[in-house]
Amino acid sequence: MSTLLVKNAAVLVTMDAERSEIAAGGLLAEDGFITRVGPSAELPGTADEVVDLADHLVLPGFINTHHHFYQTLTRAVPGAQDSGLFEWLRTLYPIWARMTAEHIEVSTKVALAELARSGCTTAFDHLYLFPNDSRLDDEIVAAGEIGLRLHASRGSMSLGASAGGLPPDSVVESEEAILADTARLIETYDDATPGSMTRVVVAPCSPFSVTPEIMKESAALARAHGSTLHTHLAETMDEEEFCIATYGRRPVELMEDLDWMGDDVWFAHSVFINDAEIGRMAAAGTGVAHCPSSNMRLASGIAPARKYLAAGVPIGIGVDGSASNDGSHLLGEARLALLLARVDAAPNQSGGELLPARTALEMATRGGAAVLRRPDLGSLEVGKAADFIAIDLNRLEYAGARHDPVAAVLLAAPVNVDYSYVGGRPVVVAGDLVTAELGPLIERHNRLAADLLDD
Ligand SMILES: [Zn+2]
Repeated sequence: MSTLLVKNAAVLVTMDAERSEIAAGGLLAEDGFITRVGPSAELPGTADEVVDLADHLVLPGFINTHHHFYQTLTRAVPGAQDSGLFEWLRTLYPIWARMTAEHIEVSTKVALAELARSGCTTAFDHLYLFPNDSRLDDEIVAAGEIGLRLHASRGSMSLGASAGGLPPDSVVESEEAILADTARLIETYDDATPGSMTRVVVAPCSPFSVTPEIMKESAALARAHGSTLHTHLAETMDEEEFCIATYGRRPVELMEDLDWMGDDVWFAHSVFINDAEIGRMAAAGTGVAHCPSSNMRLASGIAPARKYLAAGVPIGIGVDGSASNDGSHLLGEARLALLLARVDAAPNQSGGELLPARTALEMATRGGAAVLRRPDLGSLEVGKAADFIAIDLNRLEYAGARHDPVAAVLLAAPVNVDYSYVGGRPVVVAGDLVTAELGPLIERHNRLAADLLDD
């Protein structure tokens, strides 16, 4: 058995049922799971590894509920800077179609490095196109090296332009190949035990890039294996119009027709959802990945995050793909969720109450764990995985904000974390990622990105 003692945190935010915040707090972990939480004075005096976090804020590790790691290769592409979702996709699909296994490996590491430094300890990634020799296996192996927990998706696109879909035929796959590979990946990598480092999610891309048949087949496959289901839904008005024109159904109605409502399902974005649909999602336990940067960047709209919270819809934060953000900074994203909800509360928008900073923090921790169905994550409590981050409060950004450092983390400028531990293992130490060398990684990533655009 190996033990880890964290002590002397200025404040330890538990995110437990009472939302306890412990001054001079700490925790004890054994073999990656928390066995004690409380004031440092009440914890054992020593352990195999002791981390003194005096003057640091300690929080549960953040959980990212929606991303496309590969898009780190196509940040700020000139032709895709100033358009909405459909035109943005049409510009980028042909570039993404050139990716290989090496692009998947390197972009996974870059995205996870940025996520880790910004406080993320568990990430979901929506990979839905597999051009050339790319496979989900390359992403799973690369994530293992960085050391974050990964919910990897075997996504899919099956409805090419010639059949009325949005993507070019060159990036869609046959439904037989999609389902066979999805089953193979679940059987090879999916680990459902507490503390799991790898889950495999079944994730057709969106209503305008897959057929209704593959949606239904995917739901059946996921449920037969105890996996979860994810897709983009109600992201833009264009998508709503596509669903009504093609299927005579609003996006949520279409999902209901296709067995895609349930507590094993979460949707990305969910901007264009009406009050009745929010009620049905809450009743079903269907979750939302809220991606404020992307929704602003592509002028998609404002997701009704406060309504989801009020209705009891599970809601977490997602940075979304790095071609529509164009970053993977999870703390920054939680801050934007806070600010966008306040824009929504303006008198010329929806009005209503202002979202508190602690609620945004809750979305990034407990909320994300609920969305990903991870009862072992999202809070610092006995029995949970020892996934925590620490931020040094003696920094310029928090000068003058020490009366409430918890709120300051969201209200002040977003910073990178100083420490991050996943299952009791260090990933970030004294501000540096310790699981990969960033210089050569960034150089290789830039070379691959340049090649993609040059072709
Ligand atoms: Zn997305």
